[in-house]
Amino acid sequence: MYRRCGNSGLKLPAISLGLWHNFGDVDVVANSRAIIKLAFDSGITHFDLANNYGPPPGSAEENFGKILKDDFAGYRDEMIISTKAGYTMWDGPYGDYGSKKYLVASLDQSLKRMGLEYVDIFYHHRPDPDTPLEETMAALDLIVRQGKALYAGISNYPAAEAARAIEMLKALGTPCLIHQPKYSMFERWVEGGLLEVLEKEGVGCIPFSPLAQGLLTNKYLHGIPADSRAAKSHGFLKEGDVTEDRIRQIKQLNDIAVARNQSLAQMALAWLLKDKRITSVLIGASKPAQLEDSLHCLENTTFSETELQAIGEILA
Ligand code: NDP
Repeated sequence: MYRRCGNSGLKLPAISLGLWHNFGDVDVVANSRAIIKLAFDSGITHFDLANNYGPPPGSAEENFGKILKDDFAGYRDEMIISTKAGYTMWDGPYGDYGSKKYLVASLDQSLKRMGLEYVDIFYHHRPDPDTPLEETMAALDLIVRQGKALYAGISNYPAAEAARAIEMLKALGTPCLIHQPKYSMFERWVEGGLLEVLEKEGVGCIPFSPLAQGLLTNKYLHGIPADSRAAKSHGFLKEGDVTEDRIRQIKQLNDIAVARNQSLAQMALAWLLKDKRITSVLIGASKPAQLEDSLHCLENTTFSETELQAIGEILA
């Protein structure tokens, strides 16, 4: 259930829970609470946030903070909590991208919203084309030295930029713990060099949106359900993403999953976890039952050559 994160001393659960959707003020708090309780009771020790999660931005951290206070007092040392800054958070030139000013101020805000003294992992959320990478990495190093985060991470960095960032952090004495890229059967850019960089440097990898926001489940097989992410106005997945080509692939993948005695969600997660370079898969869930379903992926994370080839042909 727990995998070592790169060369570090930290172990993460093979499945981690992200609070991007379903934990904002637009959502039902009792449901959010039930998902987090089920996760923790099932051994999911890692909860991933960002300054801008909601909507509105900041509300996921606030709601998570309330749940922590009400239900998890005394459990802080059993949890790994991460947050990030890098996307637009507040007006003016200091609430976006990668300046030291933004990262330090944003983490202070996040800590207040969650009622925490420190987070376990603080990420730079996306590369900044204008701020020198040296400044952004120095900000991560500062934050760790101040004790406001225990570890530093990067997200959405392409392979070459990730390699530079990892090198800089190493030189500063605050090694990069982990990289958080988008990676699923439908989004395989990390296979073009990033995974090799991370393995070589001993940095962990935690793919986000491993279910392609719900596409890699059986929910869109017969249309777009009213309570799905694609149907919600604030959902990041759009109706237009559910194309006929996608549905055709989803149906074919679903047939393979059924033959493996797995749900499509379970197979999609297992397909990532078959690679030992993957530390954890960072899933979302809009209902406790989804989390329960996804967790069963751990019962079979091996694939035959025939299965891999069939999956490869569908994805090609
Ligand atoms: P997923 O790809 O796991 O999608 C989650 C969604 O899929 C759920 O909300 C639900 O959608 C559906 N779902 C989940 N499990 C099942 C199941 N077993 N059966 C049927 N449907 C299921 O991940 P997310 O896109 O939610 O991203 C996960 C986390 O990754 C985020 O919370 C965040 O922490 C992180 N992230 C990081 C980013 C970055 O830039 N670093 C960007 C995006 C995400 P529905 O609502 O339709 O029920």
